[in-house]
Amino acid sequence: MPANILLVEDEPAIQELIAFNLTQAGHHVMRADTAENAKNIVRNALPDLILLDWMLPGMSGIDFARQLRGDDRTKSIPLIMLTARSDEQDKIVGLDTGADDYITKPFSPRELQARIKAVLRRRAPQATDDPVEIKGLRLDPVTHRVTGNGEPLDLGPTEFRLLHFFMTHAERVHSRAHLLDQVWGDHVFVEERTVDVHIRRLRSSLEGTGHDGLIQTVRGSGYRLSAN
Ligand code: CA
Repeated sequence: MPANILLVEDEPAIQELIAFNLTQAGHHVMRADTAENAKNIVRNALPDLILLDWMLPGMSGIDFARQLRGDDRTKSIPLIMLTARSDEQDKIVGLDTGADDYITKPFSPRELQARIKAVLRRRAPQATDDPVEIKGLRLDPVTHRVTGNGEPLDLGPTEFRLLHFFMTHAERVHSRAHLLDQVWGDHVFVEERTVDVHIRRLRSSLEGTGHDGLIQTVRGSGYRLSAN
């Protein structure tokens, strides 16, 4: 599944090359050349993953990484740090940046893809292609199909993304604001009650096979998908 990747890299040639490779691989790339620009992008929408250069003009990549990890809203965004030489990487690994992985420039597109895939699988299962199944409800991100006990179910695109997020983050309660951040992404102009509208549609799509009961309202907090 294509991921929204924020690339923070100040060298234009490297930025271009990485963005090209990621776009070729089907990802959507947002670019920033400083931590300050990256912050503006993140404020607007949470990316699925951040590729962050260590050496940046102004705020360093390390300080930005720590800031992301220190903020509740951004602390769980998967993060890969880019370094210029392996001795830089040795240094950075010793620092507590909270990064999920480190990669040394120059790297091959294939290596970058592999690292991104591994980190997404570990940290953001909703951004991978792996099918998920809970209590007979099955969602396949590759074919975009949802079935309940083998019966096909018809979901709109937003309901599909919502269900994918719920199924990969089951049993946890998600506030409306968190769902907007994770499922809608760019949500500055979306109201929280929009979430309720799509939850209603999602439940009605799941009714046919009796799976609507999986989507639970947690009064005063939000929603969760629970198999219990
Ligand atoms: Ca740099």
